[in-house]
Amino acid sequence: MKNALVTGGSGGIGAAICQRLAADGYHVYIHANNGVKSALSLVDDITADGGSAEVLVFDVTDNKAVEEILIPLIEQQPIQVLVNNAGIHDDAIFPGMQAAQWHRVIDVSLNGFFNVTHPLMMPMIRSRWGRIINISSIASLAGNAGQVNYSAAKGALNSATKSLAREVASRGITVNAIAPGIIETNMTASTFNTDDIKRMVPMKRAGTAAEVADLVGFLASDKAAYITGQIISINGGMV
Ligand code: NAP
Repeated sequence: MKNALVTGGSGGIGAAICQRLAADGYHVYIHANNGVKSALSLVDDITADGGSAEVLVFDVTDNKAVEEILIPLIEQQPIQVLVNNAGIHDDAIFPGMQAAQWHRVIDVSLNGFFNVTHPLMMPMIRSRWGRIINISSIASLAGNAGQVNYSAAKGALNSATKSLAREVASRGITVNAIAPGIIETNMTASTFNTDDIKRMVPMKRAGTAAEVADLVGFLASDKAAYITGQIISINGGMV
């Protein structure tokens, strides 16, 4: 059984990704930071459905804490599917944005990508098979007022995706990013109302976490072996 790690598995999109990968036969490491309770109850749901999962807890911005958890794990068996999904937004129109808001958002999405991905790379390379899937955002492609920090973090994640894809393509490892539009989760519940969504999204509805998870499931599968270095949008037509 291959191992998969989903950062932010305690959140809305992350939980759906964990369920998808568990249903596809992976042992899933459900990562949480503050949301340990949600992650534990997701383990119960997955095991009740016949899947295999356990919880890992760390702050993705804390390099030392991440390595302390991940390095002993991969000594036993490599993690072959990594979904870098943990992310936050902390919005403000740019002149009013505090330095702390800028650094916090970059720290989770971009430095978090480094902290988690880096220790997993050599064992993945040695196994000659791997999938890295980074959860980006439409804000990285189209920009979004009030999200200079968030779109910068996700845009850098897209670029890291492309460079890493080139480095490891010959080792059977694909690296892609998914750029969701508006997906129904706690992150968006307070940001968009139904009228906003009808106005902004040609399909007139928000996407679901399960729809994002199905795309992750496909990219993680052998069927997606020739797709790498791509930023794939899932946004109901918000081109
Ligand atoms: P969410 O429900 O708020 O989940 C965010 C996840 O990130 C949580 O599991 C949280 O863990 C984790 N996280 C935050 N800071 C962390 C830290 N310092 N260390 C470790 N984990 C941390 O949000 P979501 O909507 O599912 O978003 C998931 C991803 O999709 C994010 O990267 C987001 O930018 C991206 N995205 C979402 C949308 C959307 O419409 N929802 C659109 C585009 C992109 P704890 O709760 O355990 O602390």
